[in-house]
Amino acid sequence: MSARMQTAFVGIGSNLDRPEAHVARAARELQALPDSRLLERSPLYRSAALGPAGQADYVNAVAMLETSLAPHRLLDGLQAIEHRHGRVRGERWGPRTLDLDLLLYGEQCIDTARLQVPHPEMHRRSFVLIPLYDIAPDLVVPGMGAVSDLIASLSESGLCRLVGTGRG
Ligand code: ATP
Ligand code: MG
Ligand code: MG
Repeated sequence: MSARMQTAFVGIGSNLDRPEAHVARAARELQALPDSRLLERSPLYRSAALGPAGQADYVNAVAMLETSLAPHRLLDGLQAIEHRHGRVRGERWGPRTLDLDLLLYGEQCIDTARLQVPHPEMHRRSFVLIPLYDIAPDLVVPGMGAVSDLIASLSESGLCRLVGTGRG
């Protein structure tokens, strides 16, 4: 196994069943992934749901990991955590207890049936870009540009930072 460490960023989202608790627990579970270490977790934000109308708002955050797991093994680990949170895959972008999206894996560009990295929608999503900027303000997204420039070109953020939410 290659032991090369990579920096990976994971988008965390929840809009069911006490979302803040799911996000906080997910951060602890990311910390416990094999061959990985949680370096940072952004503050929590609240955002309006994408997709089918009538859904509760999301709580979002972004985590920065150091990992030697290969990208698809990391995705396996993220999906196992989603499963432990009782995530049921229903309609596309429907409500969920936990969504963990692999946003970035080093500077790699990956395009397989199961995994696209950088996450193809991340440059349009304030709930990804703003927490990402909090923990990695100088980051450049391969093929998309500097996070700061991507934020500047968002039409509106629609994002609200949550206060008083403890880390962990
Ligand atoms: P979106 O990807 O637009 O945020 P979503 O997170 O709701 O939508 P999911 O239902 O969580 O979508 O995942 C659908 C599929 O996306 C997964 O089965 C997974 O294989 C695939 N996928 C592709 N690229 C990624 C990625 N970068 N991170 C997580 N899943 C990915
Ligand atoms: Mg998602
Ligand atoms: Mg997902």
